[in-house]
Amino acid sequence: MKTWYCCSIAGVLATLLSPVFCLPQYVPLQFSENTTNAAANLTAIPASFPFVIEGCSAYTGNLVHVLTKAVAALTPALNDVGLGLDSRHGFKALFKDGATSTYVRGILRSIASAQPLEGLDPDPSVPSAPRFACVTPTTISQYRFLEVDPWKICSHPNAGQAFYFGGSSYIFVCSSFWRGNIAPQRNACPSVRRNQFLGGGEALSMYLTYLVIHEMVHFYLGKASLGAFTDPPEVYPINECVALDPLNSVHNPQNYQFYVAMAQQGCTNVPDPDRPPFILDQGNTTLPASLLTAAAETLPPLATAAVEKLPSVTTLSVLESLNEVYDGLVGL
Ligand SMILES: [Zn+2]
Repeated sequence: MKTWYCCSIAGVLATLLSPVFCLPQYVPLQFSENTTNAAANLTAIPASFPFVIEGCSAYTGNLVHVLTKAVAALTPALNDVGLGLDSRHGFKALFKDGATSTYVRGILRSIASAQPLEGLDPDPSVPSAPRFACVTPTTISQYRFLEVDPWKICSHPNAGQAFYFGGSSYIFVCSSFWRGNIAPQRNACPSVRRNQFLGGGEALSMYLTYLVIHEMVHFYLGKASLGAFTDPPEVYPINECVALDPLNSVHNPQNYQFYVAMAQQGCTNVPDPDRPPFILDQGNTTLPASLLTAAAETLPPLATAAVEKLPSVTTLSVLESLNEVYDGLVGL
């Protein structure tokens, strides 16, 4: 059975389509002429650019611009993540356990360095960094591993703006992607009341620079990523991200997206996940500290680590059943 792996499309489509990870449907932001057109004249990809961009025509320069900003946006989080629970920018709210900091840093560094991964379609034997393809009506004929039409996915009324095709090296960019602003014009930290964020966090993180980070987290988490059919499913609103336990937090791309945004925008007003309403029944959801610490100790230096190996280490016990479900659904 082919399974649609997107947050926002369900129903009958779910049984027809292939593994796809995509973004939630947000209220589109105003298209920013200033920030987008600044790079519009750039159509060639710089030689040193680590990501592959295909089929984007006049938008190639814009995507180079977005991805360059995305990598730059990681720096504040990378400088903060080592502080673990002493972080003032939401590490505790989003990841809960200091033992996860090595894991989180590994994912962020992999994105920042465009770490190539093996085992991904269409050339599993050739390590590949994330590849971005702009979706057109003919995209399906250009990628032999595709079992669904990205154009149809992007055309669905509830489709996100981009999606990662599970098991592949490809992140597909829908034309609706370009309705978003590239980066915040000013810091926009959410308010906190009664130990909860007000709103869903969109104003904090709903920028193209952060959206591509979300999709690249899917790329590096691979099969360990939460998705529409995992238990729990992937979540997007910021308070739901805070409510996840540590293990699910490090496997939920939106948690990284919010953390990177909060660190870059200097947000320091955050809820405490150890207090209501976030405090969790630790019944059978504990685990992470020892497991993640063990995983970190067995990893090679992160600069050269193949991060795709991390999830299989950290999900050995508690997520074993989850992975069984996951494998069944995505057919990987
Ligand atoms: Zn996602």
